Amino acid sequence: MSARNLQVRMKRHPNGMVVEDDFSIVEADMPSVEPGQALVRNLFLSLDPYMRPRMDPVRSYVDPLKPGDLMPGATVGEVIDSKAEDLPKGTLVGTFLGWQTHGIVTKAGVRVIDRALGSPSSALGVLGMTGVTAHYGMLALAKPKAGETVVVTAASGAVGSIAGQIAKLKGCHVIGIAGGPAKCRYVVEELGFDACVDYKGGNLASDLNAAAPNGIDVYFENVGGEILDTVLLQMNIFGRIPVCGLISAYNATSVPEGPKNLRVVLTQRLTMQGLIVFDWADRVPEAIRELGAWHKAGKLKIREDVRTGGIDAYPDVLNLLYTSGNNGKLVLKV
Ligand code: NDP
Repeated sequence: MSARNLQVRMKRHPNGMVVEDDFSIVEADMPSVEPGQALVRNLFLSLDPYMRPRMDPVRSYVDPLKPGDLMPGATVGEVIDSKAEDLPKGTLVGTFLGWQTHGIVTKAGVRVIDRALGSPSSALGVLGMTGVTAHYGMLALAKPKAGETVVVTAASGAVGSIAGQIAKLKGCHVIGIAGGPAKCRYVVEELGFDACVDYKGGNLASDLNAAAPNGIDVYFENVGGEILDTVLLQMNIFGRIPVCGLISAYNATSVPEGPKNLRVVLTQRLTMQGLIVFDWADRVPEAIRELGAWHKAGKLKIREDVRTGGIDAYPDVLNLLYTSGNNGKLVLKV
C-alpha cells in the first residue's frame, strides 16, 4: 500500500480551458480507518464535462469550488482496509471520493458494485451516472413515443450514445449529431441510430432536415449554442427538449449569446426542462437494473475511453471532453 494519498486540488479558477497551473498536487497523509469505516484505493476516476464549469465562481446546482478544494468526481475503487463488517476487504465500490488515490468511506456513502454486471469502469458509465442521466432524460422527461423523431447531440459520447439507443428501443427514428465522419459512422453502424449528422461538415441545418424530413419531436440537448438554435427551427409542435448539458459553453470566457430562436418554444408549444441527475437519486437502482439488463442482452452497446497515467495525468485528459478528443465514456485509470 502506498504510504501517501495523492490528491489533485484546484489552485485557482481557470480562464478558458484548464492548464496545469490551475491545479496543485498534494501528497496527503494516508487517512486512518475508524470503526464503521473502510479505506478505498481508487481504481478508476470518471472524467465528466461538469468538472470544468464546477471550477467557475458562479451560482450553480452545487457550490462552486474554491481554491484549495479537492477536485470532485465519481470513482470506482476497492476496499483495501476495513473496520466495517458490511464492507469487507476486496469489495468493489462506487464512490464520490474525487481526484485522489485513496479515501475513507462508509457503507451508506457508497454503492457496492456487482462485478458480474460489467467491467468495474462501466459503473462510471452505462451502469453509473451517465447511463442514469440518459435513462431519465429520455424516459422520464422526453417520453418518446414509437414513430417519433428523436435527435441527440454528442451522440457518440457517454450520455448521448445511451440516450439514442434507448429511443431506438422505444421504436423511434433516431438521429445523432456528432463531430466528424468517424464518430458519425460509429453512431450509425455500431450504435444503430438511423442517421448521424456531422455538425462540423458545415451544413447542419440542411443535413438535419434531410435526415428528419418530418421534423423533430424530441431533442436531447447536450451541447447548446448554435446547434440548439438550428435544431429549434426544426422542432415539431408539442416537442420536448430535456436540457441535459450545454458543453459548448463550458470553457467560455464571457457570457455566451442566448438562444436566438427561443420564439419557437412559444410558437411550437415546446417543453424545455433542465435535468440534473442527482434529482433522480432514489431511482438509480431501478435505472441501473434496466440498463444492465439491456446491456447484457446486447441491446445497449457501450464504448469506454480508458486513459492511463495516474491521478495526476491532468489537465490534458479532462480537456479531451471539450475538444472532441474522447471516444466514449472518458475514464482515467488511477
Ligand atoms: P461525452 O462522452 O459526450 O464527451 C463530450 C463530447 O461533447 C465530446 O466528445 C464532443 O463530441 C462533444 N462536444 C464538446 N464540445 C462541443 C461543442 N463545442 N459542440 C458540439 N459538441 C461538443 O460526455 P458526456 O456524455 O459525459 O456528457 C455529455 C453532456 O451531458 C455534457 O453536456 C454533460 O455536461 C451532460 N451531462 C449532464 C448531466 C446532468 O445531470 N445534467 C450528467 C452527465 C452529463 P463530438 O466529437 O461529437 O463533438
